[in-house]
Amino acid sequence: MFRVTVRKETCIGCSVCAQVCPTDVFKIVMVKDGEYYRLVSEVVREEACIGCMACVENCPTASITVEKAEAKARAA
Ligand code: SF4
Ligand code: SF4
Repeated sequence: MFRVTVRKETCIGCSVCAQVCPTDVFKIVMVKDGEYYRLVSEVVREEACIGCMACVENCPTASITVEKAEAKARAA
């Protein structure tokens, strides 16, 4: 089980993570940012993550973290 996080502040919505992830954990979505809209990656299938780290290694802005998480230690 893995905890996948995208730092929305630095994500530029390039979709590289969505392309390299073998299990479709990410979805690129439009979000409102002040007056404007922009694309960011959203974690939509965290439970499918296999911890391959392809997203972390390929994100151009180092916006993704993947941590090993215990199955029952997810309350926080
Ligand atoms: S690869 Fe990084 S910058 Fe690109 S959409 Fe994914 S999280 Fe955002
Ligand atoms: S570590 Fe691998 S399986 Fe998990 S979200 Fe990143 S690319 Fe997808």
